[in-house]
Amino acid sequence: MATDGRTKRSQSICAPASASMEALAAPMETTPAPRRRPAARSQSARITGGRSVRHRRQQQQQQLDRETRARYSSEPRLAEAETPPQVRRQASARRRPPAGQHSQPRRSNAFLDVPKTTHQPEEEPDEDSYRLRTFNITQKGGIVNRGDSFRRRRSRSGSLAPSSPAQSAPEPQERRPVALHRVAMVGAPGVGKTALISQFQTSECINAYDRQRDIDSSEQKVSIMLNGEESELYFVNCTSTKEEIDRSEPPDAFVVIYSVVDKASFQKAEQELARLLDCDMLRSRPALLVANKIDLARSRAVSTQDGKCLACTYKSKFIEVSVGINHNVDELLVGILNQIRLKKQQYSAEGGRESSPAHWYKSRGVVRASMKARQMLTWIFGKEDSKFKNCENLNVL
Ligand code: GDP
Ligand code: MG
Repeated sequence: MATDGRTKRSQSICAPASASMEALAAPMETTPAPRRRPAARSQSARITGGRSVRHRRQQQQQQLDRETRARYSSEPRLAEAETPPQVRRQASARRRPPAGQHSQPRRSNAFLDVPKTTHQPEEEPDEDSYRLRTFNITQKGGIVNRGDSFRRRRSRSGSLAPSSPAQSAPEPQERRPVALHRVAMVGAPGVGKTALISQFQTSECINAYDRQRDIDSSEQKVSIMLNGEESELYFVNCTSTKEEIDRSEPPDAFVVIYSVVDKASFQKAEQELARLLDCDMLRSRPALLVANKIDLARSRAVSTQDGKCLACTYKSKFIEVSVGINHNVDELLVGILNQIRLKKQQYSAEGGRESSPAHWYKSRGVVRASMKARQMLTWIFGKEDSKFKNCENLNVL
């Protein structure tokens, strides 16, 4: 009994080698396997990681494509681990220029940058040529600026240097000798002497509000064609006439400058005029009193009438200018040359004699008092004195 029972149990567990497939299948059919419940939709979602099977297949396909491309790509690639993360970020942020365009990397904020323009210096003539400023005086006494041109210099022998017609203005073979005149620019520091000389050089408006390049050490030359006659003016910048004027070889004209916003510079101008008169420099040479910076009208400290009164006292000419806005600068330049020419004509017409009586400069105190009285009358009657009017006309002596 015991062996039968053992045999039955072993039959149910493991089939003997001789048993047929039907015999084996029979007990399995009699004991049916417990039926698995179909997985709920939520269960299948959990298994696939929250995505559908179709989505997972798409992902697998993409991954496969990527791997295939990487394997057969000829470009050398950096392994992800070799690239530091910040570099990777920058590289992804940078856009590549489209094919055919410049391959230089584009600056990220280029549209905000001010274009870098290298400072183009104003067109200057070469060593063989110079700038000639041309003016005419109208019948009513107005100044006409006829523009600047470039001319070939003369050679030492007096003949004209060979010129290229493209660069220089056509010129006659026979040129009259050019008269040279030296002009002293006198005034306190900061009144605008350097700026004024720079503006004399060109018809273009310079930026006088920038501090001017220091040209005090050297003479500055300006060539002017006035009424068909060419002259050269050499400007000498000097702060004080006491030390800087060579009495044995004085300049041909004095331009005394003050700033209308600086009362001390006006007083300094008066001192300089008095010194020039004491040195007997003004009898055969013109002096021009120049009031600069009239663009600063709200800060004005010296009135026009005070300027005129001072100019008349010293028998000099008077003009108000502003280098900053290029006001009356051409008028002053032409006025300087006009005064030099007129003074020389008068001097030669009088046979080299002194043009002013000796007593004039000795009784300066009387003249000053008389000018003050005239100034008072101008204020009271509102009609300008003829002497004051005359000192503003730079085309007459
Ligand atoms: P300098 O010492 O007499 O040679 O005077 P500068 O020519 O160096 O000028 C002194 C300052 O005055 C500079 O900053 C110029 O820009 C300024 N300046 C010159 N002329 C004028 C002007 O007409 N108006 C104004 N507002 N400033 C001027
Ligand atoms: Mg200066």
